Amino acid sequence: MRIIQASYIIPLNAAPIKNGFLFIEDDGTVIHLTDIAPISHDFEVEVYDGIVCPGFVNTHCHLELSNMKDLMPEATGLPEFVSQIPTRRNECILDSVASIISGDKEMIAAGIVAVGDISNTTDTLEVKKLSVIKYHSFVEIFGLDKNQATTLLADGLKVVGDYQRAELSASLVPHAPYSLSPALLEGIYFNSKDQLLSIHHQETPSENEMFLESKGDLADLFRGKGLDISSQMGFGENSSHYSLLPYLPKEQKVLLVHNTCSEASDIEQIESHFENAYWCTCPKANWYIERALPDYDLWLEKNLKITVGTDSLASNDTLSILEEIKLIQTNFPHISTETLLEWACKNGAAFFGYSKLGSFTAGNKPGIILIENIDGMMLTENSKVKVLV
Ligand SMILES: [Zn+2]
Repeated sequence: MRIIQASYIIPLNAAPIKNGFLFIEDDGTVIHLTDIAPISHDFEVEVYDGIVCPGFVNTHCHLELSNMKDLMPEATGLPEFVSQIPTRRNECILDSVASIISGDKEMIAAGIVAVGDISNTTDTLEVKKLSVIKYHSFVEIFGLDKNQATTLLADGLKVVGDYQRAELSASLVPHAPYSLSPALLEGIYFNSKDQLLSIHHQETPSENEMFLESKGDLADLFRGKGLDISSQMGFGENSSHYSLLPYLPKEQKVLLVHNTCSEASDIEQIESHFENAYWCTCPKANWYIERALPDYDLWLEKNLKITVGTDSLASNDTLSILEEIKLIQTNFPHISTETLLEWACKNGAAFFGYSKLGSFTAGNKPGIILIENIDGMMLTENSKVKVLV
């Protein structure tokens, strides 16, 4: 048994405890939490200066893009970013496998215990098999040519099968509303019934422009490339009406990633349709690509189930959930660290159905991390993670 004492313990199943004591088994299983010092001196108390909380759940990553670090220019906006990916990818000098291994290690050191990872290929499979991180692979497909839907679907399902045969959790998901034909969306949802779904959603103003007004940079980009956007043009409603609402029942769990441009009416439509919509934010990637952040005050007002992701090293310089929530608190200092940790730990675990992660409920084995260099309960520029278990 170990006894951990910290300036603050934020358990996420109860209120934070100042100078609390966390009793755990040697393997990290939570026994109990108290503000009363232990009477027996049989065990030495480990005393830490900082916040002790459960391990982080990163709900959106693209581990296979780890070798694209420092390649993509910042602040281009998403359409330009998307258009540059294929050529820049060919310029990668970093080894793909070595970068994936180092991305996995970086996340472990950053206190991340579970990851929802967008995977277009099986490039990350071997690393995931050996990692202590619990991975779910969202096998992502896209394609605007409806004649290609059957082939793309078969290719995606083969990748899902490869992960599952390796005893890794995986499900087939769409990339984004603007990059799929209705035939492909229908095929994915038919094959992913009751499984975990994720979609990049309302990440750029031009996604809204494309669906609502049939114009904008994204529409121009695709038109320029000769892609078939006839289903999106003249649509006249927002992208969730195109990609989600007509296909999915209310009980389907969905993870909407980014939502940087979601307005109150967009949020209300989703929330009134789905019982279990989760809103994933990747603030550092939004800042990197669009120089924009979501309206978290609106998200809080709408009482959304918010989760946090790092996105990939193509649009971020770290794979650290702490760095993501530090950026949020810098810009929204009225959002408490406890609330941010709820997003970063507990809500992500709830989305994946990982009942033993995300809080210090007795019997859980959520990973235990220390956040050092805090100011009261606030994060600072110098806050960093130390993994305790
Ligand atoms: Zn992404």
